[in-house]
Amino acid sequence: MAGRYGGGHGGRGGHGGRGGHGGGGRGGGAGRPEPEPLTGVRDDERLSKELLRMDGDSYGRYKSLKGDWDFGDFTLTVQRVQADPFAPPSRILVALPDAGIPEEARLDPVRRRATADFLGRRAGRLLRRSLLRIDTGGQEVIERSSCRVTAGGGLELRIGIDLPGRGRRIDGRAAEREFCDTLPGVVDDLYWEAVDRDAARAFADSVADTVALRSRLDGLGLVAFVADGAVLPRRSGVSDEPLTEGAVPFSSPETLRVTVDLPHRGTVAGMGVPEGVVLIVGGGFHGKSTLLHALERGVYDHVPGDGRELVVTRADAVKIRAEEGRRVERVDVGSFVRNLPTGADTADFSTDNASGSTSQAANICEALEAGSRTLLVDEDSTATNLMIRDERMQALVHGDREPLVPFVDLVRPLHRDHGVSTVLVMGGSGDYFDVADPVVMMDAYHPHDVSERARGLARERTDAVFAAPRHRLVDPRSVDPSDARGRSRIKRRDMDVLVFGDDDVDVRSVEQFVDPGQITGAGLALRALALRGRTLAEALDALDAELAEHGVTRLGGDFGGDYVLPRRQEVAAVLNRLRSLRVLEHRR
Ligand code: ADP
Ligand code: MG
Repeated sequence: MAGRYGGGHGGRGGHGGRGGHGGGGRGGGAGRPEPEPLTGVRDDERLSKELLRMDGDSYGRYKSLKGDWDFGDFTLTVQRVQADPFAPPSRILVALPDAGIPEEARLDPVRRRATADFLGRRAGRLLRRSLLRIDTGGQEVIERSSCRVTAGGGLELRIGIDLPGRGRRIDGRAAEREFCDTLPGVVDDLYWEAVDRDAARAFADSVADTVALRSRLDGLGLVAFVADGAVLPRRSGVSDEPLTEGAVPFSSPETLRVTVDLPHRGTVAGMGVPEGVVLIVGGGFHGKSTLLHALERGVYDHVPGDGRELVVTRADAVKIRAEEGRRVERVDVGSFVRNLPTGADTADFSTDNASGSTSQAANICEALEAGSRTLLVDEDSTATNLMIRDERMQALVHGDREPLVPFVDLVRPLHRDHGVSTVLVMGGSGDYFDVADPVVMMDAYHPHDVSERARGLARERTDAVFAAPRHRLVDPRSVDPSDARGRSRIKRRDMDVLVFGDDDVDVRSVEQFVDPGQITGAGLALRALALRGRTLAEALDALDAELAEHGVTRLGGDFGGDYVLPRRQEVAAVLNRLRSLRVLEHRR
C-alpha cells in the first residue's frame, strides 16, 4: 500500500486556498456542509502551516485535513475527523514503506506478527505522553490492525487522536506539535536501526517457540501442555499480569511429564494433557480454576515474561459454560435434551431464554459446529444438572421425567466416536472418576497424578449415544450490521457488549475474548461472513482462509477504530448470540 504521496492533490486546481467556506466560525454541527479538503501541495510543511493558521477557528474546520499528507519517508492519511472535541477520536494512518525491517523478522508469518506486536508496543510507549493513541494489546500477541509489518519491510500504523481544542475552537498549535513534531519523531524511533534488535529477536523467538509447541500437540496425542516453571496465577481478578509474590511455579507430576524440543529454547519439560477425558480435582482454593484459565488462554501466544509463554492448548479449544437467558436459534441439542415438558423438538431447538442446562448444551453443540474438538469445562460456571445426576436423584426423578442426559454419560462417546476431548475441573463430585483418565489433583497449587486411586473408586457406567449436531444454514439477511437508518453500526461496549446493527449482543460469557479489539474484530468478521448457500462451518472455513491470506485489515474497510483478529470460535459465538439470527435449514 501507500508509497509516497507525490505532490499535488488531484483535481480542483492548485489554488492553495482554505477550502472555501468563508464566514464559518460556529463549529461544524450537523447539517452544515463539511469544509472541502485542502488542495494544492500537501506535505508536512504545508500541514504545519495550515494547523497554525487554523488556530482559533471553529472545530469543524479540522475536517479539511482529510486525505494524504506527504512527510517524505512516510505518508500520513487523515482518515476520519471527529465532529467535536467530545466525539470518538479521529483516525490517522501512517504508512512507512521502508522501515528497514529485515527478512528474518518478517518473512515467516509468525515472526512478522511478533515483530509487528513488538513495534506496536514500542510505539505505544513512545506515544504515551502525547495525544496520539495506538492500540497495543495486553498479555497476548494477536494480529491487530494498529501496527502491521508490510511485505516490503515497512510499517503501517493506525492511530487515534483526540484533536485538541479550546472549547469548540481549534487548538492549532497543539495539533501542529502532535502531527509535525511528535509523530515524525516516533516514526524515526520505529526504524529497525533505532530498535533494540536483540529484544525484538528474543520476542519473536519466544512467540515462535509457543507456536511450535502448539503445533506439536497433535503428534504427541495431547490437547495441552503446561511447562515446568510456568506461572499461572494472575496478579488479581482484574489484572492479567503474572502474580509475582508467592506464586508457586508449575511443576508436572512425573507420570505426565513430557519433553519437547523447541527451535529456540531447546528442550522443555512439562505436563502433557492427553486427548480423551481429563479430570482436574482438588480442594477449594487449590488452583484448579487457575490451571483451567491458563488452558483457556493457551490458544493464544503470550508476551515474554508473562509466565504462560509455554502454556499451550490446541487452537480450537473452547471454554464451555452455562449461560442462562441467552437466545438459541435452531440448535440440534438432541443428544443432551430429550422430551422437554413443552414438547419442543430438541433436534431443532430455539428459545429466547435458555435455562442454565439448555444454554450449556447449546454452547457445546455450537462449539462442535464451529469446528472445536477440545472442550474446557469448570464446575464453577456449569449447570450441575447437565453435568451429573446421582443415583438417589435418578431414583426420585425417573428417566422419562428428566429430559437431560448428563454430560458425564456423553463425554466418553464424544471422544470415542467424534474425537472430541474434554478437560474438566470438578471438585464436588466423584462421578467423573468413572470416565476420566488421567485424574490430576491440585494440592496447594501442585498437580499430582491420582489416576490410580480414582480408578479404584470408579464404577461401571453406561454411556449414552452422542449424535453429532446437524449443521445449520443461516439466513444472511438476519446477520445485518445496519441500523434503522441503514448505516453499518459495529461498536463495542467494554468487554460486555457488541453492538451489531440494532442488536446488543451480550458477550460477557464468551470467555475467550481476551482483548477488547477481538470483540470489534468479531463484529467486523460477522459483516464479512459469506453465509449465502453455505453451512455456518463452511462460511467460517472461507473466512479463515481469507484472513490467513490477507491479514486482519481485510476486515476493516471504512471502519474507523481498532480491531484485533478474532478466532472463528468467537465469531461463531457472537453470531449465535444475535437476537436477530435466523436459521434456514439443517444439513448433516
Ligand atoms: P480453585 O478453583 O481450586 O478453588 P483457584 O484456581 O480459584 O482455586 O485459586 C485460588 C487462589 O489461589 C486464587 O487467588 C489464585 O490466584 C491462587 N493461585 C492459584 N494458583 C496459584 C499458584 N500456582 N501460586 C500461587 N497462588 C495461586
Ligand atoms: Mg474454582
